[in-house]
Amino acid sequence: MDRASAYEAEGRRFESFLVRCDDVCVSFLFVGGSLGESQRGFVTSAQASLDVFGMRLALSEAAQAGMLGEVPVGAVVMLGNVVLGAGGNRRETLLDPTAHAEILALRNAAKTVRGWRICDATLYVTQEPCAMCAGAAVNARIRRLVYGCPNPKAGAVQTLFQIPKDERLNHRVEVVSGLLAEECGVMLSAFFRSLRASAGA
Ligand SMILES: [Zn+2]
Repeated sequence: MDRASAYEAEGRRFESFLVRCDDVCVSFLFVGGSLGESQRGFVTSAQASLDVFGMRLALSEAAQAGMLGEVPVGAVVMLGNVVLGAGGNRRETLLDPTAHAEILALRNAAKTVRGWRICDATLYVTQEPCAMCAGAAVNARIRRLVYGCPNPKAGAVQTLFQIPKDERLNHRVEVVSGLLAEECGVMLSAFFRSLRASAGA
């Protein structure tokens, strides 16, 4: 049994986090190195649709955070088409400076796989992670990080620091930026606009 199948069996216990994508994607995504050239193209497009799927889940986590009055950022950890963990920003709710969406999603994923190494997984997050969360992705041995909009004031993936690519660290994370960036950014700017409106009222 490969790691994905093992995680999937565990993941089923976390029903609120488990959402399945199209089964056609799965059977191709986990075939791995035996794929021919023509099938590799399919894997690429399957990966792209899984990425959109993961980011849409992260966006729904962000929306839920926003409804609680939190800055709307959401994150999801997936292994292939299996959701291992999800989380939305809860800094205000939990009175916790570390309760960023990514940290909560990684903690949930670690519980699902019963270990702190979440190898081969992808972390989806609606906004470019800060230094703490980019560091957490490295520490969790996340393979890919996919984020939506940039974070001009705290981004530690490309904007202010490039933690996932820093060769001095013992693990590197592949980065895909700008996925559904507009939707992710609009959610944040709408939140801050309404905050300013209510402060001015
Ligand atoms: Zn963070």
